[in-house]
Amino acid sequence: MTIILDGRETAKKITEKLRLEVEKLDVKPTLAVIIIGCNPASKVYVKNKEKKALEIGFNSIVIELDENITKDELEKIIKELNEDKNVNGILLQLPLPKHLNEKDFLDLIDPKKDVDGFSSYNSGKLLKNDSPYAIPCTPKGIIRLLDEYNIDIEGRVSTVIGRSNIVGKPVSILLLNRNSTVIMTHTKTKNLEHFTKSADILICAAGKKEMIKKEMIKENAVIIDVGITRDIDGRLKGDVDFDNTKDKASYITPVPGGIGPMTIAMLMENTYELYKIQKGIK
Ligand code: NAD
Repeated sequence: MTIILDGRETAKKITEKLRLEVEKLDVKPTLAVIIIGCNPASKVYVKNKEKKALEIGFNSIVIELDENITKDELEKIIKELNEDKNVNGILLQLPLPKHLNEKDFLDLIDPKKDVDGFSSYNSGKLLKNDSPYAIPCTPKGIIRLLDEYNIDIEGRVSTVIGRSNIVGKPVSILLLNRNSTVIMTHTKTKNLEHFTKSADILICAAGKKEMIKKEMIKENAVIIDVGITRDIDGRLKGDVDFDNTKDKASYITPVPGGIGPMTIAMLMENTYELYKIQKGIK
């Protein structure tokens, strides 16, 4: 029987636990989010992050900046947030406008305030399996969901579709750090099906609507669908043809209600963990 991995419920448990811990604090953790321009998807993501932060009892700062902001102006804002003792987590909402180089600004964020874990410092620590201050939220959420359902990782073959810095690469490293045998695939991979069929755990993060069909997966595979695409009727779709594939899987995440809520929960957890590091709380 297939088990649907309930990201929404798992995320709720995590954020409720955080809420109870935050309730006991005199000084609340503060998450600052910088959003540049008016990308509608980014606006929705930022709104959801703010809503969840406030629900938990965090302070939330959203800094909305004009599309044409200069490099110097953005640098100044990040440096001020780094210096501000009341700010515990800084998130720079991606993508940035074309004239701004993502890497420059991600590396400007103090690694101890880098809630997304995208700085070179934290990525390097992750690569070395050496306690980064924060681990990227979506990959961390994937592993947490597998753990929540007691799904074995060690010794199993995991195939990851996608090699982005946000999802594909960090989740591959996390799986490797948990002793999985990891296969990374991408747009230049030849015969993708060969690798998807080899997977005990298949992580789909391509952003290509329903590209994974039933015949592409192994019997009883664990399927994690990270992809989000909006259908013409406005409904969200994943990378996996869920309806036709689910019965062949042992576990599978839905879209929506799978990795999306886990990502936000991990952002909240990262904010609280960074707060504790900054305050010297164990
Ligand atoms: P991206 O566009 O940066 O990377 C996509 C990757 O998929 C690339 O490495 C590319 O090589 C690979 N790819 C694309 N088409 C492929 C194909 N046909 N075969 C093999 N590989 C292919 O995207 P991203 O930021 O990594 O996000 C991936 C998807 O996950 C998107 O749909 C995004 O919206 C979604 N996402 C969801 C969450 C969440 O919280 N649920 C978080 C982050 C990203």
